[in-house]
Amino acid sequence: KLYNLVQDLKGNIRVYCRVRPFMPGQPTSLSTVENIEEGTITIRVPSKYGKEGHKPFMFNKVFGPSATQEEVFSDMQPLVRSVLDGYNVCIFAYGQTGSGKTFTMSGPKELTEESLGVNYRALADLNNSHNGINVPEANLVPVSSRADVIQLMDVGQMNRAVSSTAMNDRSSRSHSCVTVHVQGRDLTSGAILHGSMHLVDLAGSERVGKSEVTGDRLKEATHLNKSLSALRDVISSLSQKNAHVPYRNSKLTQLLQDSLGGSAKTLMFVHVSPEAETVGETISTLKFAERVG
Ligand code: ADP
Ligand code: MG
Repeated sequence: KLYNLVQDLKGNIRVYCRVRPFMPGQPTSLSTVENIEEGTITIRVPSKYGKEGHKPFMFNKVFGPSATQEEVFSDMQPLVRSVLDGYNVCIFAYGQTGSGKTFTMSGPKELTEESLGVNYRALADLNNSHNGINVPEANLVPVSSRADVIQLMDVGQMNRAVSSTAMNDRSSRSHSCVTVHVQGRDLTSGAILHGSMHLVDLAGSERVGKSEVTGDRLKEATHLNKSLSALRDVISSLSQKNAHVPYRNSKLTQLLQDSLGGSAKTLMFVHVSPEAETVGETISTLKFAERVG
Protein backbone atom coordinates (compact mmCIF):
# COMPACT_ATOMS: atom_id res chain seq x y z
CA LYS A 1 0.00 0.00 0.00
CA LEU A 2 2.78 2.36 0.89
CA TYR A 3 4.46 1.34 -2.33
CA ASN A 4 1.34 2.26 -4.33
CA LEU A 5 1.16 5.64 -2.68
CA VAL A 6 4.79 6.34 -3.48
CA GLN A 7 4.09 5.25 -7.04
CA ASP A 8 1.27 7.77 -7.38
CA LEU A 9 3.41 10.58 -6.08
CA LYS A 10 6.09 9.71 -8.58
CA GLY A 11 3.68 10.15 -11.48
CA ASN A 12 3.31 6.49 -12.41
CA ILE A 13 6.86 5.70 -13.42
CA ARG A 14 7.91 2.30 -12.28
CA VAL A 15 11.34 0.78 -12.77
CA TYR A 16 12.04 -2.92 -13.06
CA CYS A 17 15.39 -4.57 -13.53
CA ARG A 18 16.27 -7.92 -15.09
CA VAL A 19 19.63 -9.66 -15.08
CA ARG A 20 20.51 -11.85 -18.04
CA PRO A 21 21.99 -15.27 -17.28
CA PHE A 22 25.48 -16.11 -18.47
CA MET A 23 25.63 -17.72 -21.91
CA PRO A 24 26.21 -21.46 -21.90
CA GLY A 25 29.88 -22.14 -21.26
CA GLN A 26 30.70 -18.79 -19.71
CA PRO A 27 32.38 -18.82 -16.27
CA THR A 28 29.65 -17.72 -13.88
CA SER A 29 32.12 -16.99 -11.09
CA LEU A 30 32.97 -13.70 -12.78
CA SER A 31 29.53 -12.16 -12.40
CA THR A 32 29.39 -8.47 -11.79
CA VAL A 33 26.13 -9.05 -9.92
CA GLU A 34 26.80 -10.06 -6.36
CA ASN A 35 23.32 -10.38 -4.98
CA ILE A 36 19.67 -10.04 -5.97
CA GLU A 37 16.80 -9.65 -3.58
CA GLU A 38 13.15 -8.67 -4.18
CA GLY A 39 13.91 -5.05 -5.09
CA THR A 40 17.65 -4.75 -4.73
CA ILE A 41 20.55 -5.64 -6.97
CA THR A 42 24.08 -5.42 -5.61
CA ILE A 43 26.96 -4.85 -8.02
CA ARG A 44 30.68 -5.47 -7.48
CA VAL A 45 32.31 -2.16 -8.28
CA PRO A 46 35.96 -2.28 -9.33
CA SER A 47 38.19 0.63 -8.27
CA LYS A 48 38.26 1.92 -11.86
CA TYR A 49 34.62 3.05 -11.45
CA GLY A 50 34.78 4.93 -8.18
CA LYS A 51 35.05 3.51 -4.71
CA GLU A 52 35.81 -0.19 -4.90
CA GLY A 53 33.25 -2.34 -3.15
CA HIS A 54 29.63 -3.40 -3.33
CA LYS A 55 26.93 -1.05 -4.48
CA PRO A 56 23.23 -1.82 -4.00
CA PHE A 57 20.64 -0.31 -6.36
CA MET A 58 16.95 -0.32 -5.51
CA PHE A 59 14.04 -0.74 -7.90
CA ASN A 60 10.38 -1.63 -7.76
CA LYS A 61 11.33 -5.15 -8.72
CA VAL A 62 14.46 -7.05 -9.69
CA PHE A 63 14.31 -10.26 -11.72
CA GLY A 64 17.29 -12.57 -11.46
CA PRO A 65 18.80 -14.67 -14.25
CA SER A 66 16.47 -17.60 -13.61
CA ALA A 67 13.24 -15.61 -13.91
CA THR A 68 11.00 -17.03 -16.62
CA GLN A 69 9.18 -15.09 -19.32
CA GLU A 70 5.91 -16.07 -17.67
CA GLU A 71 6.98 -14.73 -14.27
CA VAL A 72 8.08 -11.48 -15.83
CA PHE A 73 4.86 -11.05 -17.77
CA SER A 74 2.54 -11.97 -14.94
CA ASP A 75 4.00 -9.11 -12.94
CA MET A 76 3.25 -6.71 -15.79
CA GLN A 77 -0.19 -8.07 -16.60
CA PRO A 78 -2.21 -5.60 -14.49
CA LEU A 79 -0.38 -2.75 -16.18
CA VAL A 80 -1.15 -4.19 -19.61
CA ARG A 81 -4.80 -4.68 -18.71
CA SER A 82 -5.16 -1.09 -17.56
CA VAL A 83 -5.13 -0.21 -21.27
CA LEU A 84 -8.68 -1.59 -21.31
CA ASP A 85 -9.64 0.99 -18.69
CA GLY A 86 -8.49 3.74 -21.01
CA TYR A 87 -4.98 4.28 -19.70
CA ASN A 88 -2.03 5.02 -21.91
CA VAL A 89 0.79 2.67 -21.11
CA CYS A 90 4.42 2.62 -22.13
CA ILE A 91 6.75 -0.25 -21.41
CA PHE A 92 10.28 0.22 -22.60
CA ALA A 93 13.31 -2.03 -22.42
CA TYR A 94 16.52 -0.17 -21.67
CA GLY A 95 20.11 -1.37 -21.39
CA GLN A 96 23.34 -1.98 -23.21
CA THR A 97 23.55 -4.23 -26.25
CA GLY A 98 23.41 -7.88 -25.29
CA SER A 99 21.73 -7.30 -21.93
CA GLY A 100 18.48 -9.06 -22.87
CA LYS A 101 16.09 -6.29 -24.03
CA THR A 102 14.93 -8.15 -27.10
CA PHE A 103 14.70 -11.38 -25.14
CA THR A 104 12.29 -9.72 -22.70
CA MET A 105 10.18 -7.93 -25.28
CA SER A 106 10.15 -10.52 -28.10
CA GLY A 107 11.97 -13.65 -26.93
CA PRO A 108 14.97 -15.60 -28.21
CA LYS A 109 15.61 -16.28 -31.89
CA GLU A 110 13.88 -19.65 -31.78
CA LEU A 111 10.51 -18.97 -30.19
CA THR A 112 8.67 -21.55 -28.15
CA GLU A 113 5.45 -21.18 -26.19
CA GLU A 114 7.43 -20.67 -22.96
CA SER A 115 9.93 -18.24 -24.39
CA LEU A 116 7.42 -15.80 -25.92
CA GLY A 117 8.23 -12.29 -24.78
CA VAL A 118 6.13 -9.44 -23.42
CA ASN A 119 4.97 -8.24 -26.84
CA TYR A 120 3.27 -11.51 -27.73
CA ARG A 121 1.91 -12.10 -24.27
CA ALA A 122 0.51 -8.58 -23.95
CA LEU A 123 -1.19 -8.65 -27.33
CA ALA A 124 -2.57 -12.12 -26.76
CA ASP A 125 -3.79 -11.10 -23.31
CA LEU A 126 -5.70 -8.10 -24.61
CA ASN A 127 -7.05 -10.15 -27.45
CA ASN A 128 -9.64 -12.37 -25.77
CA SER A 129 -13.30 -12.83 -26.91
CA HIS A 130 -14.33 -9.58 -25.69
CA ASN A 131 -11.64 -7.12 -26.72
CA GLY A 132 -10.96 -6.71 -30.41
CA ILE A 133 -7.63 -4.98 -30.95
CA ASN A 134 -5.99 -3.22 -33.82
CA VAL A 135 -2.25 -3.19 -34.29
CA PRO A 136 -1.24 -0.24 -36.41
CA GLU A 137 1.63 -0.56 -38.81
CA ALA A 138 1.56 1.61 -41.88
CA ASN A 139 -2.12 0.82 -41.71
CA LEU A 140 -4.29 -0.62 -39.02
CA VAL A 141 -4.29 -4.40 -39.19
CA PRO A 142 -7.01 -6.20 -37.28
CA VAL A 143 -5.86 -9.33 -35.49
CA SER A 144 -8.08 -11.95 -34.03
CA SER A 145 -5.74 -14.67 -32.85
CA ARG A 146 -2.32 -15.25 -31.41
CA ALA A 147 -1.21 -16.60 -34.79
CA ASP A 148 -2.21 -13.29 -36.44
CA VAL A 149 -0.18 -11.40 -33.87
CA ILE A 150 2.91 -13.58 -34.36
CA GLN A 151 2.72 -13.22 -38.12
CA LEU A 152 2.36 -9.48 -37.88
CA MET A 153 5.27 -9.19 -35.47
CA ASP A 154 7.46 -11.17 -37.87
CA VAL A 155 6.80 -8.56 -40.50
CA GLY A 156 7.85 -5.88 -38.01
CA GLN A 157 11.01 -7.78 -37.09
CA MET A 158 12.00 -8.10 -40.73
CA ASN A 159 11.51 -4.40 -41.25
CA ARG A 160 13.79 -3.65 -38.37
CA ALA A 161 17.35 -2.81 -39.32
CA VAL A 162 19.58 -5.36 -37.69
CA SER A 163 23.29 -5.52 -38.14
CA SER A 164 26.24 -6.95 -36.33
CA THR A 165 28.47 -5.07 -33.92
CA ALA A 166 31.47 -6.22 -31.95
CA MET A 167 29.27 -7.09 -28.99
CA ASN A 168 26.32 -8.98 -30.31
CA ASP A 169 25.46 -10.14 -33.79
CA ARG A 170 21.75 -9.72 -33.12
CA SER A 171 22.28 -6.22 -31.87
CA SER A 172 19.82 -3.75 -33.25
CA ARG A 173 20.83 -0.33 -34.25
CA SER A 174 17.28 0.86 -34.07
CA HIS A 175 14.41 1.26 -31.68
CA SER A 176 11.50 -1.08 -32.20
CA CYS A 177 8.02 -0.13 -31.12
CA VAL A 178 4.77 -2.06 -31.09
CA THR A 179 1.78 0.20 -30.53
CA VAL A 180 -1.68 -0.98 -29.65
CA HIS A 181 -4.79 1.16 -29.59
CA VAL A 182 -7.75 -0.09 -27.66
CA GLN A 183 -11.22 1.37 -27.76
CA GLY A 184 -13.79 0.14 -25.30
CA ARG A 185 -17.10 0.99 -23.75
CA ASP A 186 -17.56 1.37 -20.02
CA LEU A 187 -20.39 -1.04 -19.32
CA THR A 188 -21.80 1.06 -16.47
CA SER A 189 -21.67 4.57 -17.88
CA GLY A 190 -21.60 3.71 -21.57
CA ALA A 191 -18.66 6.07 -22.05
CA ILE A 192 -16.16 5.27 -24.80
CA LEU A 193 -12.64 4.69 -23.48
CA HIS A 194 -9.48 4.97 -25.51
CA GLY A 195 -6.33 3.36 -24.26
CA SER A 196 -3.00 2.87 -25.93
CA MET A 197 0.10 0.90 -25.26
CA HIS A 198 3.64 1.28 -26.56
CA LEU A 199 5.96 -1.68 -26.19
CA VAL A 200 9.45 -0.44 -26.95
CA ASP A 201 12.68 -2.35 -27.45
CA LEU A 202 15.24 0.44 -27.46
CA ALA A 203 18.59 0.44 -29.22
CA GLY A 204 21.57 -0.32 -26.99
CA SER A 205 22.25 2.42 -24.44
CA GLU A 206 26.04 2.05 -24.53
CA ARG A 207 28.09 5.01 -25.61
CA VAL A 208 29.39 4.39 -29.09
CA GLY A 209 32.76 6.01 -29.58
CA LYS A 210 34.18 7.35 -32.80
CA SER A 211 36.88 4.69 -32.68
CA GLU A 212 34.34 1.88 -32.92
CA VAL A 213 32.34 2.92 -35.94
CA THR A 214 32.74 5.21 -38.93
CA GLY A 215 30.73 6.70 -41.77
CA ASP A 216 27.02 5.91 -41.88
CA ARG A 217 27.33 3.75 -38.79
CA LEU A 218 28.71 6.68 -36.85
CA LYS A 219 25.88 8.91 -38.06
CA GLU A 220 23.41 6.27 -36.99
CA ALA A 221 25.07 5.81 -33.59
CA THR A 222 25.08 9.56 -33.00
CA HIS A 223 21.41 9.70 -33.88
CA LEU A 224 20.61 6.83 -31.50
CA ASN A 225 22.64 8.41 -28.70
CA LYS A 226 20.66 11.61 -29.22
CA SER A 227 17.25 9.98 -29.14
CA LEU A 228 18.16 7.93 -26.07
CA SER A 229 19.42 10.97 -24.25
CA ALA A 230 16.21 12.81 -25.21
CA LEU A 231 14.27 9.92 -23.66
CA ARG A 232 16.46 10.02 -20.55
CA ASP A 233 15.79 13.77 -20.26
CA VAL A 234 12.03 13.25 -20.53
CA ILE A 235 12.02 10.43 -17.99
CA SER A 236 14.23 12.42 -15.61
CA SER A 237 12.08 15.52 -15.76
CA LEU A 238 8.92 13.47 -15.26
CA SER A 239 10.39 11.77 -12.23
CA GLN A 240 11.47 15.14 -10.84
CA LYS A 241 7.99 16.56 -11.54
CA ASN A 242 9.43 19.37 -13.63
CA ALA A 243 6.93 21.77 -15.14
CA HIS A 244 8.59 21.55 -18.53
CA VAL A 245 9.06 18.14 -20.09
CA PRO A 246 11.19 18.25 -23.26
CA TYR A 247 9.15 15.87 -25.41
CA ARG A 248 9.93 17.67 -28.63
CA ASN A 249 13.64 16.96 -28.67
CA SER A 250 13.35 13.71 -30.62
CA LYS A 251 10.96 11.72 -32.77
CA LEU A 252 11.09 8.93 -30.21
CA THR A 253 9.84 11.10 -27.36
CA GLN A 254 7.23 12.73 -29.61
CA LEU A 255 5.94 9.31 -30.56
CA LEU A 256 5.74 8.22 -26.93
CA GLN A 257 4.49 11.55 -25.57
CA ASP A 258 0.92 10.45 -24.82
CA SER A 259 2.21 7.44 -22.94
CA LEU A 260 4.74 9.27 -20.80
CA GLY A 261 3.61 11.62 -18.06
CA GLY A 262 0.14 12.85 -17.15
CA SER A 263 -2.09 9.96 -16.21
CA ALA A 264 -0.05 7.54 -18.35
CA LYS A 265 1.64 4.56 -16.79
CA THR A 266 5.27 4.03 -17.61
CA LEU A 267 7.40 1.00 -16.93
CA MET A 268 11.11 1.35 -17.53
CA PHE A 269 12.56 -2.12 -17.75
CA VAL A 270 16.29 -1.96 -17.19
CA HIS A 271 18.47 -4.83 -18.40
CA VAL A 272 21.79 -5.88 -16.98
CA SER A 273 24.54 -8.08 -18.41
CA PRO A 274 26.37 -10.18 -15.82
CA GLU A 275 29.84 -9.92 -17.41
CA ALA A 276 32.54 -8.04 -15.55
CA GLU A 277 33.93 -6.58 -18.80
CA THR A 278 30.88 -4.37 -19.24
CA VAL A 279 30.44 -3.33 -15.61
CA GLY A 280 31.08 0.33 -16.49
CA GLU A 281 27.96 0.46 -18.68
CA THR A 282 26.06 -1.54 -16.09
CA ILE A 283 26.84 0.97 -13.36
CA SER A 284 25.87 3.98 -15.46
CA THR A 285 22.64 2.26 -16.53
CA LEU A 286 21.71 1.42 -12.95
CA LYS A 287 22.62 4.89 -11.66
CA PHE A 288 20.34 6.52 -14.19
CA ALA A 289 17.52 4.04 -13.57
CA GLU A 290 17.69 4.37 -9.80
CA ARG A 291 17.31 8.14 -10.03
CA VAL A 292 14.12 7.64 -12.04
CA GLY A 293 12.40 5.19 -9.74
P1 ADP B 1 19.71 -6.96 -26.43
O1 ADP B 1 18.40 -6.94 -27.16
O2 ADP B 1 19.68 -6.17 -25.16
O3 ADP B 1 20.87 -6.57 -27.31
P2 ADP B 1 19.30 -9.82 -26.47
O4 ADP B 1 17.89 -9.88 -25.98
O5 ADP B 1 19.52 -10.00 -27.91
O6 ADP B 1 20.00 -8.47 -25.98
O7 ADP B 1 20.11 -10.88 -25.60
C1 ADP B 1 21.43 -11.28 -25.92
C2 ADP B 1 21.51 -12.81 -25.92
O8 ADP B 1 21.21 -13.31 -24.62
C3 ADP B 1 20.51 -13.46 -26.84
O9 ADP B 1 21.12 -14.61 -27.38
C4 ADP B 1 19.36 -13.82 -25.94
O10 ADP B 1 18.59 -14.91 -26.42
C5 ADP B 1 20.09 -14.17 -24.64
N1 ADP B 1 19.28 -13.85 -23.45
C6 ADP B 1 18.95 -12.62 -23.03
N2 ADP B 1 18.22 -12.64 -21.91
C7 ADP B 1 18.07 -13.94 -21.62
C8 ADP B 1 17.39 -14.65 -20.57
N3 ADP B 1 16.72 -14.00 -19.59
N4 ADP B 1 17.46 -16.00 -20.57
C9 ADP B 1 18.12 -16.66 -21.54
N5 ADP B 1 18.77 -16.06 -22.55
C10 ADP B 1 18.76 -14.73 -22.60
MG1 MG C 1 18.05 -6.28 -29.06
